[in-house]
Formats: sequence, structure tokens, C-alpha cells
Amino acid sequence: MTLFSSVELAPRDPILGLNEAFGADTRADKVNLGVGVYYDANGHVPLLRAVREAEKARVEAALPRGYLPIDGIALYDMAVQKLLFGADSPLLAERRVVTAQSLGGTGALKIGADFLKRLNPSVPVAISTPSWENHRALFEGAGFQVVEYPYYDAATHGVDVEGMLAGMAKLPAGAIVVLHACCHNPTGVDLRTDDWKRVLSVVRERGLVPFLDIAYQGFGDGIDADAEAVRLFAAADVSFLVASSFSKSFSLYGERVGALSIVTASHDEALRVQSQLKRVIRTNYSNPPTHGAAVVSAVLNHDGLRAMWETELGEMRDRIRAMRRGLVERLSKVGDFAFIERQRGMFSYSGLSAAQVDRLREEFGIYAVSTGRICVAALNEGNIDRVAEAIARVV
Ligand code: PMP
Repeated sequence: MTLFSSVELAPRDPILGLNEAFGADTRADKVNLGVGVYYDANGHVPLLRAVREAEKARVEAALPRGYLPIDGIALYDMAVQKLLFGADSPLLAERRVVTAQSLGGTGALKIGADFLKRLNPSVPVAISTPSWENHRALFEGAGFQVVEYPYYDAATHGVDVEGMLAGMAKLPAGAIVVLHACCHNPTGVDLRTDDWKRVLSVVRERGLVPFLDIAYQGFGDGIDADAEAVRLFAAADVSFLVASSFSKSFSLYGERVGALSIVTASHDEALRVQSQLKRVIRTNYSNPPTHGAAVVSAVLNHDGLRAMWETELGEMRDRIRAMRRGLVERLSKVGDFAFIERQRGMFSYSGLSAAQVDRLREEFGIYAVSTGRICVAALNEGNIDRVAEAIARVV
């Protein structure tokens, strides 16, 4: 017997396992559509020009690396609020939003979960079927019971709105509902404006606690358009949380730059919430790292760099949409895949079965998640023909 002799091997992360298999594959024309990052037209993770400019200035300034405040860089937090709620949001003028810099979107969800657990430990957390695979584990890890509400409708390649609303209506008062604000991961299928309004009605009627997750702002229809759900909730006089991330929109995956924003009913409430949120952060990791948030803050708070970033973000968004269109066109001979063009963000539920995904990998060296999720942002002019031909062969 040793201290760790009873420790069991944890199950492998399915997507990391896929990446390992891809790495070991010796075929020169292999394609990895299982990834969760944006690749440029040359198949690389881009380093944005706006980021490079801000980094150059930062290196030249040779600043000391003292600790940041517990909730991060104040100018960064304010810039996050403007992106999410709009610069002229009355919530900001009334100082009702508490924002804390976090370790990516994941870190925002985690500190939000810990904060909510202290507030109301017995409520369930509801996530969509399906959802980002870390949602369940993260909220269960924070001690919550996690349940699911219907979301994806395979028959229509759309959202099962009626099922979703009915599922939400069954939740007890105070239940936390995790909602993908845009570019749903893994399906790519989003709610429309009218659907969001109906979701909001159920939230108010049932007294639910919305926790919006926005990891892809700017990847769908644009920075403001993608924040539509956040702004609808903000205008509706409900208290809610928002986990946001710059991993994708700034291509800063490894720097861990995100934020948790909590919308409260008054400035006085905000101050009290902020003090408790800081305790959560203090006992988790004390305070966040400097570099990524300093770079994002420098870009968002500088007119020229901000314009440069918006252009680059627009290029990423347009390229994804062009790849969606290209795939639909190439597949039109074998079926109607128009739904792929209606989906938003990096991911697509392609409708491929697990068996078809297996064939793609074994016969063609094309890797996708067994659920049929493909990363459209991993397609480019150099591989899209092969991918489309292989899909046409297996469907
Ligand atoms: N939420 C969703 C829906 C995501 O897809 C992701 C990233 N894949 C995250 C949160 C976490 O983002 P980050 O990498 O910034 O922690």
C-alpha cells in the first residue's frame, strides 16, 4: 500500500486523445477537424498584428511585474464591460456590473460557479444537450448537481426551442441555467432574437439564474450582433452572470485571458458582490497574470489598435463563413448541407454519424469528433476539396 495505490486512471479526454492519434498518423494529407482553435488560411494559429504591436510596445516599456489587483487590470475590466454590454449601457453608468479578469473563459466559469455555490448551494445547474464538454465537469467540480435541458434538434439541424423552454420551465426557482450567448459549442446552432425573448420570459417567470457563456464574440455575425443575448438580458432587469473569453477573438489561447461579469440590481449590491467575488479569487489563485490582459487592454483602449483588431477579427469571421459556404457548395452533389452555412462560429454539427467519422479517419486521414462535430476553422483552400470528397464518399 502506498498513498496513491488506490488512485484510478482518469478517463482520457476524448478530444486530446483524437489529437494524439492525429499526431501519430503518418499520412501526409491528414486533416485534423477535431480541434477547438481557429487556424488561418495556411493552417496556423495566427498571432494577430494588433497583438504584436501591443506586445512590442509592452516589451519596450520594460514594466516591472508586480501583482495585479485580485480582480485584475481595471482598464481591462472596463473594456470587457463595454464589449459585452455596449459602451453606452445604463448598467455601466449606474455601476451595476462587477467584472473580474479571469484565467480564460474556463476560469470565469469556475470563479462564477464557486461564487454561486456559496450563495445558494442546493440549486441545480442546467446545461444544454449537448454542451461544451467541460461545462458539466466544471459545475460538478464546484459541487453542483448538473442537469440538462433539450437544445439540439438533429432532425431540423436547429434548436429544439419548444423542448428547451419546456425543460427550463421544469427547473426549480433559483436554478442556474448555462446559456451559450453565441456560436454554440459544439453544434454551431444559435437561438434567434425571438427565441431569446422567450427564454428570458421563462427565466423571469421561474426565477432562474442565467449564466451566459460567450467564448466566441465576433466569430458569428460581429462584435455587437454576437452580444445580442447579453444585451437583451441586460435590458430586462434580471441579475445574471457572463463568462467571456479572448482566447479565440484575440487568438491568445495560451495566455488565459477572460473575464467574469456579474450584473447586479444596484451599485451598492455590486460593491458587496465584488467583495465576495474577490474572496473567491483570493482563495483560488490570489490574482490573475499580467501579460495577456495587458495586451488586450492596450488594444481595446487604443483607437488605432482597436480598429486593426476589429479588421483582423472580421477576417477570421469571414474566412470561417467562406469555408462553410465552400463545404456546402462542394457537398451539394451528394445532399443538402445548407444547414452548415446557417450555423455560426468555429464548429459545425455536420450530421455525420460515429461510423462515418470512423471511416473518414481510417480511410482518409480526416479526424473529427465522434459526435460529428467538425471545426470549420480548420478548413482551408488547401484541404477543403479533399475533405468534401471524403465526406461525399462516406455519406
Ligand atoms: N466556453 C465555451 C463554450 C468554449 O467553447 C470554451 C473554449 N473552448 C470556453 C468556454 C473556454 O474558453 P477558454 O479557453 O478561454 O478557457
